Amino acid sequence: MIIADRIGYHLHRRDQMLALVHLRPFWQFVSRCGDSNTKRITLLASDPFWKASVLPWNCQAEHCDCRVHSLSKIEMARYVEEGCSPGDEDAALMYAEWQLNQSLSL
Ligand SMILES: [Zn+2]
Repeated sequence: MIIADRIGYHLHRRDQMLALVHLRPFWQFVSRCGDSNTKRITLLASDPFWKASVLPWNCQAEHCDCRVHSLSKIEMARYVEEGCSPGDEDAALMYAEWQLNQSLSL
């Protein structure tokens, strides 16, 4: 896939995920680019990370294997219960803060 097509694909994907953000408020960036280890970064869809101009929407790796998934509350709870991926442990803290904010805004 040439880079312009890839960016178009990622932006289309982002639009799809934004449309479902009320049901799937957590976004998870999964990448094998750069080295062989899979990296995961899980953040709220509203996090400024997702507005960054480079990753994840515009990875320049020649054979890009970056993906972004959206997670529902149930999927996010399961991910945290399972201990999160190595390097993505902050996701548990983010989820705990999100739960607290949810309970305060009820
Ligand atoms: Zn990539």
